[in-house]
Amino acid sequence: MQKLDTDIAVVGAGIVGVSCALSLQKAGLRVTLIDRQGIGEGCSRGNAGHFATEQVHPLATPGLLWKIPGMLLDPLGPVAIRWSYLPHITPWLIRFMLNTRKRPFDRGSQALQALNEASLPAWKRLLEGSGVENLIRVNGSLLTFEQDSSFYNYQASTLESLRNHGVKAQILDGDQARELEPGLSSTIRHAVLFPNTGHTANPYQLAHSLGELFQQRGGQVLLQPASEFKQIDDGVQLKLNGQPVQVPKIVLATGAWSKPMVRELTGRSIPLDTERGYHLMLPNSGASLSMPVTSAERRFIMTPMSEGLRLAGTVEFGGLDLPANMQRAAMLAFHAKAILPGLDDSPGETWMGFRPSLPDSLPIIDQVGSRNQIVLALGHQHLGLTQAALTGELVRKLVTNQPTGLDLTPFGLNRF
Ligand SMILES: Cc1cc2nc3c(=O)[nH]c(=O)nc-3n(C[C@H](O)[C@H](O)[C@H](O)COP(=O)(O)OP(=O)(O)OC[C@H]3O[C@@H](n4cnc5c(N)ncnc54)[C@H](O)[C@@H]3O)c2cc1C
Repeated sequence: MQKLDTDIAVVGAGIVGVSCALSLQKAGLRVTLIDRQGIGEGCSRGNAGHFATEQVHPLATPGLLWKIPGMLLDPLGPVAIRWSYLPHITPWLIRFMLNTRKRPFDRGSQALQALNEASLPAWKRLLEGSGVENLIRVNGSLLTFEQDSSFYNYQASTLESLRNHGVKAQILDGDQARELEPGLSSTIRHAVLFPNTGHTANPYQLAHSLGELFQQRGGQVLLQPASEFKQIDDGVQLKLNGQPVQVPKIVLATGAWSKPMVRELTGRSIPLDTERGYHLMLPNSGASLSMPVTSAERRFIMTPMSEGLRLAGTVEFGGLDLPANMQRAAMLAFHAKAILPGLDDSPGETWMGFRPSLPDSLPIIDQVGSRNQIVLALGHQHLGLTQAALTGELVRKLVTNQPTGLDLTPFGLNRF
């Protein structure tokens, strides 16, 4: 059996895997990064680029239970289900619904707060001296409301709780919002500014730049599919391109595809599924937003990017194999035009990505195995870009036996 000449292999080169690889390298380890497709080609390729540190609430919010059936009836609504996938997603949905109870919701919010408030400082540390610090801007994001009722409801049910979780937020009326973003429609009546959030103008380039940095610093990248994982006494055995190899340690960062690998490595079945999301690029939008703008009612986000305006969002339960329904991307132009009436909505690229989601909206960040030879860094759902650099730091601390400085119990494999 060939022994890979490395201290640790990171499987999966999405934004989470690349961040783990760079961070481990900082500890002086020889790291090999493995991906079957390329760096940042998975879900990390086309996300909304928002460092959404204000999103400290799990998605299973109290009261959601009664709204979901209505939401699912509209195939082009913000949440959709591919009916042939219903039998597969039902156990996940049941667990998700159970998480709408107050206690799991409160526990989840606390855990997400801990991750999110440490996320941007971790990004700063990861990018220090990289030469690509300018790929991240921390100048806030705006949540807009067209209806008084939805704003007052949000203010009472959500905003207060976010503030209690340390999120800085400023309430604006429609005119104040238009002072910040002059292109906004006169139909915007209220907005909330989250001044401490950020965005990147190119999430794909961010992942790539980190990958290049990793290689410049001596890291090895192997573009090969990994399969047949097995825990052995002195490490982990796996196949690369069908050939068996052995490594002393492994970080599994394979996003939405991780479920069978976790089972092979640990014998555990995790309730990981995917919330598919879409984007539509408007290359000539003519909009000059300075920050990401979200519509509370229409449930999508618009982020100014180097290649145009990116409209992104929506949740579709359809698993990893069913073809994309690009109408879900195309419909975003209609909604964007309502928020930014001056928009040139001639469409560019459409894209679908697989968010790796667990029903409690928390990732798994854990070290397991008979000799701690397996690290899991997966399941970052809607917040993988936001939490990637911090995840990398936590993984490094686990591997090098340093105190993590953050209670990792809520992110443990054992919670399932
Ligand atoms: C529309 C949309 C908008 C989003 N917006 C935001 C946002 O604004 N902010 C935010 O924080 N998050 C956002 N997200 C979520 C974020 O994109 C994900 O959480 C994140 O990309 C997950 O990163 P990852 O590295 O875990 O997974 P991925 O990027 O999917 O990477 C996993 C990698 O594993 C590789 N892999 C899988 N199996 C194997 C194998 N057998 N062998 C080798 N390699 C393998 C894949 O090729 C892939 O490259 C959004 C997601 C979507 C869909």
